[in-house]
Amino acid sequence: MPIAAPAASVRLEEIELRVLHLPLVSPFTTSFGTETVREVIVVRARTTDGVDGWGEIVTQHMPSYSSEYTHGAWDVATRWLAPALLARDAIAPEEVPAVFDPFVGHRMAKGGLELAVVDAALRTQSRSFASYLGAERTAVPSGVSVGIQADPVALVETVAGYLDEGYVRIKIKIRPGRDLADTEAVRSAFPGIPLQVDANSAYTLADADTLAQLDRFGLLLIEQPLEEDDIVDHAALAQRLKTPICLDESITSAKAARDALALGATTVINVKAGRVGGYLEAVRIADLCEAAGIPVWCGGMLETGIGRAANASLAALPAFTLPGDVSASDRFYARDIVTEPAVLRDGHVAVPDGPGLGVEIDADMLEAVTVERRTLRR
Ligand SMILES: [Mg+2]
Repeated sequence: MPIAAPAASVRLEEIELRVLHLPLVSPFTTSFGTETVREVIVVRARTTDGVDGWGEIVTQHMPSYSSEYTHGAWDVATRWLAPALLARDAIAPEEVPAVFDPFVGHRMAKGGLELAVVDAALRTQSRSFASYLGAERTAVPSGVSVGIQADPVALVETVAGYLDEGYVRIKIKIRPGRDLADTEAVRSAFPGIPLQVDANSAYTLADADTLAQLDRFGLLLIEQPLEEDDIVDHAALAQRLKTPICLDESITSAKAARDALALGATTVINVKAGRVGGYLEAVRIADLCEAAGIPVWCGGMLETGIGRAANASLAALPAFTLPGDVSASDRFYARDIVTEPAVLRDGHVAVPDGPGLGVEIDADMLEAVTVERRTLRR
């Protein structure tokens, strides 16, 4: 459903951006490469009333998952986006997309700044982000995304560990040469588990015969087998596979989602707020999927406690009918930058219900992992 009650307008005093280097508990490998440290930008938007709102720009160090990357986002945020927000006399969160409209692209940067403004406005009103979005659940089922391991034996071991922790759905990353044997190993070790694979754009339509062999593993879906702009090829591939195709990288907006659905390129959608320019657009996509009877779930970008709290709230909307990648914080980080990191309980992550995002910043940890900082003032 659309946002029922708009948030209050706020007058911004300053916007602070920080680049963080947050060590990962284990390397995370996808078809794009390996990360050992999560480089991410955290945004603090302070109102003239002294209320701080927090957001997270989920870009990565390199433009690999998308064309956006840390220092591209840093530049556009400090040069254009933050000054545009500070130039406004007062601003309601719902007006942020219009303020950013003159600037093409850079959706992750826009989404991170928008979240900070939403959080500031909701904290001002003592309203939770979950209720603002229209969430109905108090906890969300938690899936885990498992990177490519040394070999299928190591993969099965890693998956077993996550199943022991209670994760209710397993997703494994695949790439050419690390697809059929990896999937077969996990499926034969755990015949009954909800299992899906994520190719992160690593294939072309010429690989259709290989991808069709995944049909025998009874997967929930295959995520983004082809390139971001291969919408027509995804529609052609869908005709060749029994496994449902779920687009991730390709779904950059509600318009892109509508087009992909109309063309039959996808029958499930992974929503990531950063990828689509913010949580308001993410809700629009969820609404679209709900109206079309298409399952939707919440993906992840190795978020800190800020984005993780926001994702748990988004995933609690009624449209989200499949478990998402909203894992516990300790799946990625030994110590998070919030004082109440997401934990796994009975396979679920709680939806924060305090004001704004419902989490508080661990100031010492934030300071310890900050490698760059810039404050812009009105
Ligand atoms: Mg994905």
